Amino acid sequence: MENFKIDVDADGIALVTFDVPGQSMNTLTNGVMAELPTLVERLKTDDAIKGAVITSGKASGFCAGADLGDISGGMLAGGGGLQGAYDAGWRFNGALRALETCGKPVAAAINGLALGGGLELALACHYRVVGDSPKIQLGLPEIKVGLFPGGGGTQRLPRLIGVQAALMAMTAGSSWRPNDAKGAGVVHEVVAPGTEVEAAKAWLKAGGKGVQPWDTKEFKIPGGGPYHPAGMQNFLVGNAMIRKQSYGNFPAAINLMKAVYEGLQVPMDAALRIETRYFIKTLMTPQAQAMIRSLFLSKQELDKGAVRPAGIPKSDPKKVTVIGAGMMGAGIAYVQALAGIETILIDRDQDAADKGKAHVADLLKKRLSKGAIDQAKYDALLGSVTATTDYDLIKGSDLVIEAVFENREIKADVTKRAEAQLAPGAIFGSNTSTLPITGLAEASVRPEDFIGIHFFSPVDKMMLVEIILGEKTGQAAIAKSLDYILKIKKTPIVVNDSRGFYTSRCFSTFLMEGMAMLEEGYAPALIDNIGRMTGMPRGPLEMHDDVALDLSYKIAKQTALDLGDKFVPAEGADIVAKMVEGGRFGRKNGMGFYDYASKPKTIWPGLAELAPTTKGIDGPEEPTAFAQIDELKTRLLYRQAVEVARCWEEGVIDDPREADLGAILGWGFAPWTGGPITLIDQTGLSTFVETCDRLTATYGDRFKVPQLLRDMAAKGETFYGNFEGAQKAAA
Ligand code: NAD
Repeated sequence: MENFKIDVDADGIALVTFDVPGQSMNTLTNGVMAELPTLVERLKTDDAIKGAVITSGKASGFCAGADLGDISGGMLAGGGGLQGAYDAGWRFNGALRALETCGKPVAAAINGLALGGGLELALACHYRVVGDSPKIQLGLPEIKVGLFPGGGGTQRLPRLIGVQAALMAMTAGSSWRPNDAKGAGVVHEVVAPGTEVEAAKAWLKAGGKGVQPWDTKEFKIPGGGPYHPAGMQNFLVGNAMIRKQSYGNFPAAINLMKAVYEGLQVPMDAALRIETRYFIKTLMTPQAQAMIRSLFLSKQELDKGAVRPAGIPKSDPKKVTVIGAGMMGAGIAYVQALAGIETILIDRDQDAADKGKAHVADLLKKRLSKGAIDQAKYDALLGSVTATTDYDLIKGSDLVIEAVFENREIKADVTKRAEAQLAPGAIFGSNTSTLPITGLAEASVRPEDFIGIHFFSPVDKMMLVEIILGEKTGQAAIAKSLDYILKIKKTPIVVNDSRGFYTSRCFSTFLMEGMAMLEEGYAPALIDNIGRMTGMPRGPLEMHDDVALDLSYKIAKQTALDLGDKFVPAEGADIVAKMVEGGRFGRKNGMGFYDYASKPKTIWPGLAELAPTTKGIDGPEEPTAFAQIDELKTRLLYRQAVEVARCWEEGVIDDPREADLGAILGWGFAPWTGGPITLIDQTGLSTFVETCDRLTATYGDRFKVPQLLRDMAAKGETFYGNFEGAQKAAA
């Protein structure tokens, strides 16, 4: 075997070391899946082996789960139709079942993170020992890429920890730290790091049994199964909760529920076959295919620097200055400190700079209290941030990022003062959210080193960073910014300059379509509910409140000034203006479309005067109501997708992976679609164009598709088809 090494000791204990060659982390590749049955057969039939301990040979972890590239392509592409797909899906599941019924005790010595199929492998062992390290996580995160556990997880976890806890963990894709995993009953023992194998062997020597609880006669599902009065409740409540969270957009969540419900009513062998059927059924859905591609494969590629210009030596930023220690600047300082970058945090006065550093300290304290870092690490990380007003300290920085007020003059002044301290080769990034980079670069004496580095709020949580190229930005500046973003472990996309760049520009159309509906007389609560039904994280009015109405108002004023005659006021601009003039700025001052003083928030009654409600949905049973809901959902999603297509035609963005992932991570575009470009591709270009033509005729030019889409539709093309074709041609 290539991936498993077996050493049998004098006591007859086989130490199985899982170590996939050529990878820094173990994953369940096609090769591993193919070897598992061989491994199990050896453990079962070799008389010299009395029991086994499975551990990992990698310092980085036990196993990160399935190789989704292999799975999504492999299982469905192997030929043999449905039966072939089922057989491919059963391979891993069947091997794990053979492992737990091999007749000999097997323990997992989990010496690093165990996620997805990695944890499922451990769950198929009879005993689990895990190292006590803050770096270790155990969990089944498959739902996040449109799948659910297909290696027995949906059957073993509820039998181990009860239906409610298992469903909650699997529908959220959440993970446990070692001690929490022990508390939940997922593992048996937490031991000092480095002693996992020893502890696992000790269990074997003490007479550990090679039988799973669910294979014994007396087994009962903890808390009760589907036909138990208490157990039944989990399914009633669980179904409602899944519906509330996902609005039926994720087949994976529904199929997961079915697999657990049906599987728990039969013995394990049949239960696992049920799981595999639902797993393959889920894998075949367009949603799973879309999510795997965008949220896993594309993300991996972008996180490895797929869009970095070739031929420029890799850089490693060690010292970075952040100017402006406000909400964004302090957040940036925090993520830099975590990545081991020495940070100079500058503000107008020492108090403001100190306040920024105090925010870094608050965020670090949270990690400290969770046990993710210890006191020494906390001190070192906080010590790597210097709060100051002194521009001299910039000297030696590889990069300066400004996050001062959104004001051209202030930004120009800061640019000049910072550049005076910067060595050749160092770059200057602006975190502006709205001001075109080419214009800001006019203040720079070296515009080739000037670039937009747009973070999202809150910086510590949001994974995306949008890099914006000014007209004169050079290739080296792009490469260095990407090296920096990869170092702070964010996902980068690179876009060309445009008003609102890529993300803010397209996201704003979601808010505007919500405003259009409000103007048309739809009830505000209806608009937001339908917004959530599309799969967006919140409705357009709620999100408008979050962004801040006064910001919307200010941007509209600035855009009117910049565009002159060409300016077209956005939908509902009058309503927003009246609200802002009346002191309603959104969530930040507790007053927007909603009143936030009460919990839960309630619609502001005054809105009824500014936008009287004249339209509703006729009632849930009315066929017209469903059609109306669909129409509103389509408007909210297609409006954004049309703007994305316009960005594409204008050259703001040219890589479907960046367009899709940027949309999902940047502004929460419905993840089940795989992103707006995938939505267009999967809908089919002709159908998408046809629908948009109808929407244009009914609602106006905001749905007018760019010529590019018509041309592509005429030629039967797709975005990903063209992109993959171009990649192949280049290779
Ligand atoms: P903020 O008001 O919280 O912080 C701005 C900081 O800059 C303040 O601490 C202020 O004292 C400091 N400052 C102002 N003039 C300065 C000067 N001449 N020299 C040094 N420091 C100075 O604002 P914020 O929300 O952190 O936004 C900062 C920038 O980031 C803006 O350009 C904004 O558009 C952009 N941005 C904001 C968000 C967001 O969601 N808040 C998201 C992306 C980008």
